[in-house]
Amino acid sequence: MDDEPTPVVLTATCHSQGCPSAEVPIQAAFYPNANDPIFRAECAGCEQAVTDLVPFTSLPNPAA
Ligand SMILES: [Zn+2]
Repeated sequence: MDDEPTPVVLTATCHSQGCPSAEVPIQAAFYPNANDPIFRAECAGCEQAVTDLVPFTSLPNPAA
């Protein structure tokens, strides 16, 4: 099988009240789903669905 979807690195941020991981952006690789929601994430801290998913773009690294 060579038609596997390409994983996309997204930054997920949980905004749940009282969540230990709230407001902590986490980068992870996601595989797009065939149906909506295309990307699904579940917070490891509160187990709620994380809807704040944005594409991760590499930070500029002037030292490189
Ligand atoms: Zn959370």
